[in-house]
Amino acid sequence: MLARLKSNFYLAMLSLVGLMITVCVTPYGIYRLLSGNIVVGVSDLVMVLVSICCVIFAWRTDNTKGPGLVMAVVFCVGVILVCINLGVDGLFWVYPFIVFTFFLVSPLKALVLLLGSVSVLVAYSLLNSGQIFASFFQLGSFTVTSFVTSLFAYMFAYRTQTQREALKLLATTDSLTGAANRRTLDDALITAISQRKKAGTEYGLMLLDLDFFKQINDNYGHKAGDEVLTELVPVLKKMVRQHDAVYRFGGEEFVVLLADIKHADLQKLAEKIRLGVNQHLSLPDGKKLTTSIGIALLQDDESWESWLHRADLALYQAKHQGRNKVVAA
Ligand code: GH3
Ligand code: MG
Ligand code: MG
Repeated sequence: MLARLKSNFYLAMLSLVGLMITVCVTPYGIYRLLSGNIVVGVSDLVMVLVSICCVIFAWRTDNTKGPGLVMAVVFCVGVILVCINLGVDGLFWVYPFIVFTFFLVSPLKALVLLLGSVSVLVAYSLLNSGQIFASFFQLGSFTVTSFVTSLFAYMFAYRTQTQREALKLLATTDSLTGAANRRTLDDALITAISQRKKAGTEYGLMLLDLDFFKQINDNYGHKAGDEVLTELVPVLKKMVRQHDAVYRFGGEEFVVLLADIKHADLQKLAEKIRLGVNQHLSLPDGKKLTTSIGIALLQDDESWESWLHRADLALYQAKHQGRNKVVAA
């Protein structure tokens, strides 16, 4: 449980908001119901109930987008109803609610929802003067402060989101080629093993190693070697299916992980890649590149280390048989 909270930021935020709403709003909801304010009491308890359901749904499905949006929209409606019924007393809830919303949906969606809610409150006050705000001055202060708080919360959330995305990209991709990195491969292999156990999904793996790559560095310089590696990744991505991923395993070795694939198709695709690399990648003097490929289908109850090891042994055989070959484990 703690591991899921640590690894899934959105699930952690959704759970925290759900917990806060449940702890903070439930006593008020009960108090309002007991004191006869049915609209506010019911609004409070509906917000609590929806939060609990959304958090449970998110934990079960790992989907945080839908539940986050439902919670944010319900809170918007709830806070508007509470403010209309309680007047100034209800306005205190607007400010924590502004912050909560940015934890539930994307920054832009949160800003639109908040500005919409504040506009509804302001429009209602103008049409029903004296019901929410004691004076026009109070209405003006609320409009400015809620707008400024929403705007600054938006800027903060937007910056945090872009930094998180940039960090994720840095942590998961190889900076030279743009292929997914070894860390991402490890995670994908673990996921494949668990999918195999849970759903019986068939997986195939290709381990590619460019032939005589060291000579490219020696003859044309390290930069030319880098360029070959950079050009190779789009060539591989073009040849595999859209949902198959290409990983840089290290140096001039790459892994292609394929879900829902039979042995014959894996062999065919590996041959296509071997020929494609030879066709599309060449050296400054026009010489064509070749690659050796080891392929392995994931077996029942196999660990990812053993799966990778079998592909590595097959690759070793391909090299041993003279390179520019595909060998199946
Ligand atoms: P083989 O056909 O047996 O695979 O021979 P090889 O020369 O390709 O294999 P070897 O493993 O001996 O050489 C791999 C070379 O790849 C050695 C290393 O200098 C080079 N290399 C590893 N990473 C990079 C990189 O990021 N850029 C460049 N330019 N070269 C790299
Ligand atoms: Mg190598
Ligand atoms: Mg090599």
